[in-house]
Amino acid sequence: MSGPILLISFVAALALGYVLQRATDKTGWIGLALMFATGALALIVPTYNGFDMFNLFGLSMIFGFGITLADKRQKALKKKADWAKLKTERPQFRHCPSCTSKLEEREVDEKKRLACTYCTYVHWNNPLPVAASIVPHKSGGIVLVKRGVEPRMGKWCLPAGFMEVGETPEQGAKREAAEEATIDIEIERLIYTFAPPQLPQVLMFFVAREIDQTPTPGSDAQQARVFQLDELPDDMAFSSHVEAIKRWRQSIDR
Ligand SMILES: [Zn+2]
Repeated sequence: MSGPILLISFVAALALGYVLQRATDKTGWIGLALMFATGALALIVPTYNGFDMFNLFGLSMIFGFGITLADKRQKALKKKADWAKLKTERPQFRHCPSCTSKLEEREVDEKKRLACTYCTYVHWNNPLPVAASIVPHKSGGIVLVKRGVEPRMGKWCLPAGFMEVGETPEQGAKREAAEEATIDIEIERLIYTFAPPQLPQVLMFFVAREIDQTPTPGSDAQQARVFQLDELPDDMAFSSHVEAIKRWRQSIDR
């Protein structure tokens, strides 16, 4: 084969392998079979009509190289997409936190749960408690914070957050109000509890004693301010917070 033809054939084989791999993921076997077939053919019939059959073997090798290249790129792209997904999605546990073996979905206590394939660990997925507070302000409104983190970043909600081990729900609500709105509150009573059907959470809404302080945004909040009751945002971050405010207003007829 002359130089230019060989070069063109090389590039064509490379491109064909690359394009084929992008279209289907079964091209690995085609490339492998081609290499064996052309290799064996070249061994049995070294030349055919003056054509060096080892050139054919070389071309199928290049074809296989094209497949490998495309395959590597596909995998890199998929990995990138997977990582991007992991950053935004709720974590899905895949490995046992105790022994690192794979978790599998199986029936435990009459429900499908993630359980370890090796040890006795079961991911029960019990709900986490969230403490929130309605903080009335002397000016007549209530304190809201603009969320600085996902989910619903940029939307307004009541000061709220996950409880820490060792604190009471009331202490959790007080700590969150201090962290998000930089206000020191005293909890008065529980007004509403709610468990969202899709989330492993239990929300507890407290009513705090009226404050005179001016809220300022703390960690996790973009803004913190007092909203008058007739100017509450239409698109609050969570409907349960809206419901809690509604129940509180009904309870005090405000
Ligand atoms: Zn385990």
